[in-house]
Amino acid sequence: MDSQSFVLNLTPIAFLTLSSVFMAIRYFLIAGIVFWLFYKLFRSQFISRKIQTAFPKRRQFKREITSSVITILIFSGFALLIRYMRINGFTAMYTDFEAYSSLWFVCSFFLLILLHDAYFYWMHFAMHQSRWLMKFHAHHHKSFNPTPFTSLSFHPVESVFEIAFFPLIILILPVHPIALALAGTWSLLFNVLGHSGYELFRSGFLERPLLKWLNTPTHHNMHHRFGNGNYGLYFNFWDTLMKTNFKNYKRDFERVASSKKIITEHTKF
Ligand SMILES: [Zn+2]
Ligand SMILES: [Zn+2]
Repeated sequence: MDSQSFVLNLTPIAFLTLSSVFMAIRYFLIAGIVFWLFYKLFRSQFISRKIQTAFPKRRQFKREITSSVITILIFSGFALLIRYMRINGFTAMYTDFEAYSSLWFVCSFFLLILLHDAYFYWMHFAMHQSRWLMKFHAHHHKSFNPTPFTSLSFHPVESVFEIAFFPLIILILPVHPIALALAGTWSLLFNVLGHSGYELFRSGFLERPLLKWLNTPTHHNMHHRFGNGNYGLYFNFWDTLMKTNFKNYKRDFERVASSKKIITEHTKF
């Protein structure tokens, strides 16, 4: 029995348990390693790269880890939904590598990332415009000074909005389960680094012709700190187009990346 049919033959409870355990291990391994490196092992070596000088209190970590576990359970529920959709032929997904070219496999991965980036920007933007949606999104914003464990620290309702992209996109986009899993892992890695509280890119990064379109940890850190601006996830396309980057973004980035202490005042857009 290959891995595909093994997954499809599991009982719903066994599948839920297995996917929860897999997602939890992946999350706590990635976020845990980043936390251990930056907040424990090399704390003093990396201190000049800390975006906000203060370190979060223990109770913030407790809240974030509890919320992350709930998010993982909700995400596993959605993995079960995707499995149900696949079994019943409701998706455009394919499992036979021969069905599409390897070029399409690569393109579908990048398309997933680009479409997820657009979905996230508009969902996130809407959450900041609507008072009703903000009630849920406010939970993520309790982490004023984010840590690697802020990445999945959502209100359960927001977790549903966050993951809904995946069952929706597979209705129309022919993707292989591996491309989908790779996009999920990329998303998690990017989120953990974006919430790490540390700037990892070098000074001058935002002047590079192509690289400048990639969002930096400072970009999302400013969003947690100041609120209404810097809404984007992976790329800066939508924030640039909609003029929602904080006016001081490049200046703040340069100050952290060149190890000068950051400014604290805030000028909107
Ligand atoms: Zn937000
Ligand atoms: Zn965040």
